[in-house]
Amino acid sequence: MHANLSDIAQHEHVDVAIIGAGPSGAVAAAMLRRAGRNVLVLERQHFPRFSIGESLLPQSMAYLEQAGMLQAVVEAGFQYKNGAYFVHGDKNAAFDFRDKHSAGWGTTYQVERAAFDNVLIQCAAQQGAEVRFGHTVRAMQPDDAPVLEVEDEAGNGDPRKEARRDGHHRGFGRH
Ligand SMILES: Cc1cc2nc3c(=O)[nH]c(=O)nc-3n(C[C@H](O)[C@H](O)[C@H](O)COP(=O)(O)OP(=O)(O)OC[C@H]3O[C@@H](n4cnc5c(N)ncnc54)[C@H](O)[C@@H]3O)c2cc1C
Repeated sequence: MHANLSDIAQHEHVDVAIIGAGPSGAVAAAMLRRAGRNVLVLERQHFPRFSIGESLLPQSMAYLEQAGMLQAVVEAGFQYKNGAYFVHGDKNAAFDFRDKHSAGWGTTYQVERAAFDNVLIQCAAQQGAEVRFGHTVRAMQPDDAPVLEVEDEAGNGDPRKEARRDGHHRGFGRH
């Protein structure tokens, strides 16, 4: 354990703290919630926010399904996509994702990341993950019980008062 009793009383304890509410943080948070873990996601920005990387591949659908996010993504109405077409000079190549020899998804979506990422983190929150926007992780003290130092937008960043996360069974997520 850490420090004295008055210090410990100001700590927050979670099973898993995830830094960043992008797709990997959101999917990890939802999956961990489905596994019964207590999850806190710390995100320095506010969503929706711009991000690059709009072209999903079909395997993404399997992970969204596992995370209980598929219906929300379908309902969001993103551009349906079943392949890709590449052009380089006078050369070109077309790929139909459905033309494959193994099980799994053959279609996916082209997404606007600001909206897509927001759908995913809202799904994670609906499944019980606590999400705090405007919270920046400044440092991490690695240990058997890792401690994060977090600063909010008001500049409250004293980890001994605001944002230490520790405990004997605590995980620490960085993606
Ligand atoms: C030019 C370019 C094109 C791309 N095109 C594609 C594509 O077509 N298809 C595709 O699948 N992928 C593409 N990618 C990759 C894709 O953008 C990433 O794989 C994806 O964004 C990773 O998601 P993530 O959740 O890991 O991270 P991010 O989406 O980057 O999310 C990380 C989050 O963590 C937050 N954060 C960071 N540090 C802290 C901190 N200290 N405290 C609190 N919060 C923090 C950030 O604010 C951010 O919201 C592209 C990437 C680039 C650069």
